[in-house]
Parts: sequence; structure tokens; C-alpha cells
Amino acid sequence: MNEQICAHLSAIKSITQAAEAVCEECIGQGTTWLHLRTCQTCQKTLCCDSSSEQHMSHHCRSTGHPVVISSEPGERWLYCYVDDQMAGY
Ligand SMILES: [Zn+2]
Ligand SMILES: [Zn+2]
Ligand SMILES: [Zn+2]
Repeated sequence: MNEQICAHLSAIKSITQAAEAVCEECIGQGTTWLHLRTCQTCQKTLCCDSSSEQHMSHHCRSTGHPVVISSEPGERWLYCYVDDQMAGY
């Protein structure tokens, strides 16, 4: 694990978990997802980069929200899209 975590990751003081384990944009489009991520800026839960629609990636690029967590059960990590950096919690 990288000891030098970026300012976005070190600014996260508490973790917001997914309210619902679904990608709301996939549900709207009728597409399916692989894994879910939850935005730590606005608490939106969207699908990961391995999913065909990559909604979280689009969300972070269009809004500038930098940090997401994995919403998968048992996974405890944060990811910063700006710095392409992960951290455990
Ligand atoms: Zn960062
Ligand atoms: Zn999606
Ligand atoms: Zn967001």
C-alpha cells in the first residue's frame, strides 16, 4: 500500500456507505452492472469501471467529485479518480 496518500483521500474523515445496492443510472437505462461504487462527495451509488456503462467514472469526470468507495460487501477501500490512488480504511 502506498503510504503517501493524496489530499482527496486524506480529507475523507468518515465513510458513507451505499444507501441502496443498485446503480440508479443502469436501472434507468435497463443496463446491468458488475460492481458498485459510492461517491464520497454526493453519496451517489453508481457502477464501476469494469461495468459496461462505467457510470461512476462518468460521474466523477463530469462533476469533479474525486473519491469513491467500493460498495461491495466485505471490500473496505477508497479510490481517488484524480490521482488514480487507492487506500484501505
Ligand atoms: Zn486524490
Ligand atoms: Zn451503471
Ligand atoms: Zn458525486
